Amino acid sequence: MYIACPKCDWRPTPDVLWVCTCGHRWHTFDTHGVCPACGKAWKETQCQSWQGCGKWSDHEDWYHEDDGLTVEEYLANPQHAVAPPTRPASG
Ligand SMILES: [Zn+2]
Ligand SMILES: [Zn+2]
Repeated sequence: MYIACPKCDWRPTPDVLWVCTCGHRWHTFDTHGVCPACGKAWKETQCQSWQGCGKWSDHEDWYHEDDGLTVEEYLANPQHAVAPPTRPASG
């Protein structure tokens, strides 16, 4: 799973902060869009205007499933490279 703007594919790094209407600054994907200071749930999340498109999108749409393993993930999970268990010969 990775997080990216559904409109421009900008991928926020963990140090990017959003500002709530209460003035609190936090990384919205740490809390699934809920402000930890006032509890406001942000159903839509704005893309960063200086790195991305600056448009609002449904918070859920920012979560993407990976189509496949990256090389790094493949190397980090060697069990994926193990051949399927052998079955007894039949017939
Ligand atoms: Zn807040
Ligand atoms: Zn964007």
